[in-house]
Amino acid sequence: MQRINVTRSSMPSLEEYVREIEDIWDSHWLTNMGEKHNAFQEMLKKYLQVDNIELLVNGHMSLEMTLQAFDFPKGSEVITTPFTFASTTHAIVRNGLKPVFCDINEDDYLMDCRKIEGLITSKTVAILPVHVYGNICNANEIQRIAKENNLKVIYDAAHAFGETFNDIGVGMLGDASCFSFHATKVFHTIEGGASCFRDEKLGRRIYDLKNFGIHGLNDVQGIGANAKMNEFCAAMGICNLRHVDEEISKREKVFKRYSELLGGVEGLRTHSIQEHVKPNYAYYPILIEENEFGSTRDKVYEELVGHDIFARKYFYPLTSDYSCYNSSYDSNLTPVAKWVSDRILTLPMYADLALEDVERISHIILSCSMK
Ligand SMILES: *Cc1c(COP(=O)(O)O)cnc(C)c1O
Repeated sequence: MQRINVTRSSMPSLEEYVREIEDIWDSHWLTNMGEKHNAFQEMLKKYLQVDNIELLVNGHMSLEMTLQAFDFPKGSEVITTPFTFASTTHAIVRNGLKPVFCDINEDDYLMDCRKIEGLITSKTVAILPVHVYGNICNANEIQRIAKENNLKVIYDAAHAFGETFNDIGVGMLGDASCFSFHATKVFHTIEGGASCFRDEKLGRRIYDLKNFGIHGLNDVQGIGANAKMNEFCAAMGICNLRHVDEEISKREKVFKRYSELLGGVEGLRTHSIQEHVKPNYAYYPILIEENEFGSTRDKVYEELVGHDIFARKYFYPLTSDYSCYNSSYDSNLTPVAKWVSDRILTLPMYADLALEDVERISHIILSCSMK
């Protein structure tokens, strides 16, 4: 049997990619906002149904530079979630800001809006929630809290590519939203990312940050860095965008098969799609409660590894438990996040995952419950 990983990057045919990059051999223009970059940016803007977008070299720099573009005073506090990928917390800390961890909901793994207001201090400047596994945060409530307390809202939308919430592109929520197009994501540009934002002035700041603040040939107006998307990545994005709807509908089949096979089992929680959300089927997390299921998440994980199947403990550990952070934070203050993180497992999920493999994976998981 072939090894199965948690994800497998989708790729256009080699011929399609070669056709797309042929122009680059004519132009010799490899990066710096070339034709592919600009065409791809326009295509994405339509696909994501957003008003403003800026492409970046990866999702992390989208988060880091979007936060930087707000120019918050150093030492300000940003309310965020510890149930996320390293990038979210690092982006806050690398900007000289302080993450303040809010607990999550037990059912959808999103920031628990009831706990946000209790964390607001005179130093709080922003809320940075994550649309975990493509579940969309309670944006109305977050907006209300932000408005009453004069806070900015920046979403980590790395898991929410192409989704809509009440028919609105998720990139339109909050003051800004950051997407990742990493190779492991539902849609990718090899490495890549984008920031969507409400205020065009913020967009100009992000542009300066991604391109050294250069304007024209003779002036540099901002103290920027370099986080541009190159032409080869943009070309991959153009190709992948042609197929992404088909990829998502194939993922839907995988998703449904997992739900059929694993649904209704005591102690094993499957994933469900929120109302009012057009989903992207990016992930299939299950949550295992030891006493009811009769086995732990870690045992199920190891059993799968024994069959050359690599699920992922995602997100585990909480970012507040990383050794680079655990002396400054106490994850017992976010008990639900801790509880979820100890029980969550994301299963292999990609467009070309065979339904027979979904069945095999599911049977191995179910067999653990008898032990
Ligand atoms: C992937 C991811 C990122 C970082 O994106 P990169 O493109 O890998 O830099 C940030 N946040 C979350 C939640 C992610 O899943």
